[in-house]
Amino acid sequence: MSLLETLGKVCVLGFGKTGVSVCKYLLQQPESRVSSVTLVGGADATVGEKIQELADSGVQIQYGSDQVEGTFDLTIASPGIPDTSELFLSAKAASKQIMGEPEFAYQESPSQWIGITGTNGKTTTTSLTTSILQYAGLDASAVGNIGLTITDQLADRKPESWFVAELSSFQLATTQKLHPHVAMLLNITPDHLEWHGSLEAYAAAKEKIFANLDTNDLAIVSDLDEFCHDVSSRLEARGITVCHLAQTDPGTQNAAFIRDGALVVRLSGKEMELVAADALHIRGVHNALNALAAAACGLYLGIDIVSIRHALLDFMPLEHRIEPVNTVNGVLYVNDSKATNTDSVEKSLTSFPGKDVILLLGGHDKGTELDEFAQKVSATCAYAICFGEAGPRFAEALRHVSGGHAEVVEEPHMHEAFDRAVKLARPGSVVLLSPACSSFDEFTGMAQRGRVFKQLVADLAQKESGR
Ligand code: ADP
Repeated sequence: MSLLETLGKVCVLGFGKTGVSVCKYLLQQPESRVSSVTLVGGADATVGEKIQELADSGVQIQYGSDQVEGTFDLTIASPGIPDTSELFLSAKAASKQIMGEPEFAYQESPSQWIGITGTNGKTTTTSLTTSILQYAGLDASAVGNIGLTITDQLADRKPESWFVAELSSFQLATTQKLHPHVAMLLNITPDHLEWHGSLEAYAAAKEKIFANLDTNDLAIVSDLDEFCHDVSSRLEARGITVCHLAQTDPGTQNAAFIRDGALVVRLSGKEMELVAADALHIRGVHNALNALAAAACGLYLGIDIVSIRHALLDFMPLEHRIEPVNTVNGVLYVNDSKATNTDSVEKSLTSFPGKDVILLLGGHDKGTELDEFAQKVSATCAYAICFGEAGPRFAEALRHVSGGHAEVVEEPHMHEAFDRAVKLARPGSVVLLSPACSSFDEFTGMAQRGRVFKQLVADLAQKESGR
């Protein structure tokens, strides 16, 4: 079943979860397929328990330098290692072939893949698509960037099971043969430019998800940004069926869009109305689009409309993604810690029409351009409370907006911003943590930031109930 009959001398890059999984998988292969396994950690790596166990099982371990020693038939790189890094380039020079882990997993088990990429919405859409398949009784697992290392799932994979793979631009950058039956591109907006160098390179990496599609496959592509638009045109020029994802009917044979508040999918000219957008538990126009992409995929695979409706109506917000935490004194507290770029925040702000939104904004500054963003925030929010390293820059951009109505407040850290929000909120207000920044100035990651926010809400609720 594998596309590669023998793997030979294999090098694995990265001492993290992925590297460990790949080594374990390789150790289970017959010697006729894998003649040796070398795990390389790079200059800053240290040997922990898991790496020691691999060494005891016969894996050769290298670390302390970014220069790989020896020659190999194949190198498999962990997602955290940029294809421009010294370690990657040294391994590339020492190997006949080099690929990222998703590509390796694909080559080991190449049928029944669905691939999902985009700047935002990947995890939500991957979970939704997996739910739809599972609702219809299909064997499906969400894999890739979403948390489960794909290689870990290979040993138990049944021939009829589907992999719904969330793929980041980093992972797509090194793909070669990856060929999903349905591939989705949800959006392309500026993010991760430090890694890819330019928006063009970032967009090109994402477009690779479609590289091997043929006329039996479906591409689901957003109509909402210029990059995605260009990708659709190139796919259609290749004769690939493109389902256009849009807010209003794009008028194409294959489309997924919103009409009179309802989600509608049209495939080969046949139209199906699914559910009302506001019947979904996940809020905002962007989530309606995520639901449309997942539903279009399900319908294309032949899943019945009733299962799709149920799966959509049952789907709950994922943690840290416009997650309602609690209502205290009539104020709804919402954790959207996952919104680490301005585009995500703009989308989240569509979730509370007519509400008094108090937005908590800030964290580690990515240096994104803020003029347009500041205008949108100022037009939709009652208050913007700016905190953290990026706080002063956000506050400055917001104060420069003319005609906006958001009042701008600055606080040093998230907990002070939260306390201020509690004081400013009135019954009916929404306090939304949707920070537009990564969290590394104050927290270990967006998940810790989200949990701290939820704890602040829990403490507040307890304090108020004791009154
Ligand atoms: P990813 O896995 O791509 O980071 P998630 O599903 O985890 O995406 O959502 C991350 C954040 O991105 C959410 O909190 C939301 O604010 C925003 N988002 C989700 N879907 C979309 C979309 N389709 N377009 C733009 N922003 C979105």
